[in-house]
Amino acid sequence: MTFVNAKAEPRASSNTGLPPTAAEALLLLIREAADPILFIDAEGRLVLWSNSAATLLNLQEAMLGQPAETAITHPDIRALLQSNSLEERREVRMDNGRTFNATLTTVEAAGQLLTMQEVTQFKEMERARTEIVIGVAHDLRTPLTAVQGYVELLERVGPLNETQRDFVQRALTGLHAIADLIDDLLDIGQLESGYTMVMHRLDIAELLLKSCCTFRPIVEEAGLTLRCHLPTTPIWIMGNAARLRQVVENLLSNAIKYNRPHGWIALSAYRSDEHVIVSVADSGIGIPPQEQNRIFQRFYRIRDRARADIPGSGLGLAIVKAVVEQHGGRVWVESSPGEGSVFSFILPLTIENNDAEGGKVDE
Ligand code: ADP
Repeated sequence: MTFVNAKAEPRASSNTGLPPTAAEALLLLIREAADPILFIDAEGRLVLWSNSAATLLNLQEAMLGQPAETAITHPDIRALLQSNSLEERREVRMDNGRTFNATLTTVEAAGQLLTMQEVTQFKEMERARTEIVIGVAHDLRTPLTAVQGYVELLERVGPLNETQRDFVQRALTGLHAIADLIDDLLDIGQLESGYTMVMHRLDIAELLLKSCCTFRPIVEEAGLTLRCHLPTTPIWIMGNAARLRQVVENLLSNAIKYNRPHGWIALSAYRSDEHVIVSVADSGIGIPPQEQNRIFQRFYRIRDRARADIPGSGLGLAIVKAVVEQHGGRVWVESSPGEGSVFSFILPLTIENNDAEGGKVDE
């Protein structure tokens, strides 16, 4: 392998007056590329980089041919370089506040290509928008609580006739829906503003059992059946209990909302190596394949006849995704329209778990 820093002048033209060969032109283009680009050979050594990459990553001529692992010091990029997959992406924040979307492409026997696209402006716009949303939601919450309180008091201050009681009930239903939406907006704003979640060592099996107990009467009230298949021994993770309960309860609420009459819901969890996998399955209306990725986006709701009358803000799954990812996990869905859905998330375990596999308890 020849190490060809793009900084080195290609043997072009100026001496010979001939146009550059394709290889020379390619070298020039790489050197001048606006986006940082870096090539690593199959042995993990730095082969070639653009001027923009040299400036951003502080690469010197002398580093040519050195192992990328030692030459590159940024922790996020070092972590990216250790990836085993053919294509891996990661958001990288530099010390000077600039943010990049870095992509590492691996071609077997040839090496790796690192490309970085700046997204600083986009991130700043997103942050400004989140701040506006949090501000507005906050300002709405206080007067709304007062309105809710007064409407609830109407019943107590004088006898209401049947029509008046019906109107009060309708007003309260609307007010509760607005309050839920505001709470969801505040949650998503807080989660996306990058605040650090307080994490403690907790037993997720116990947390799931509590959610199961809380939800059983709600599920039965809706004419559905809830089955819980949970481990009997503790499963220790590092997490935020309130946020994880919110994740499970959002998934259970959806399993109720989008179910069929007399259907069922199953909450289950099991340990697998260094992880725990939690699933909420339902016998509901299901999700078309082309919608399965989009439903985790903020405000995304599927608009079809089966769901036309089901209320919601489209924020529940965005909150689920943000919380799970802040715990170092991942969430996904498997579903067949008309048959049901299974929402699952995986979380890393803490090292304190012993090796004994937890037994299952059917609640
Ligand atoms: P919301 O329920 O408030 O609309 P979510 O973010 O929780 O918002 O869900 C997004 C969309 O995903 C929903 O509008 C619904 O169409 C679909 N969805 C979520 N959970 C289920 C489920 N268990 N079964 C069928 N569709 C679901």
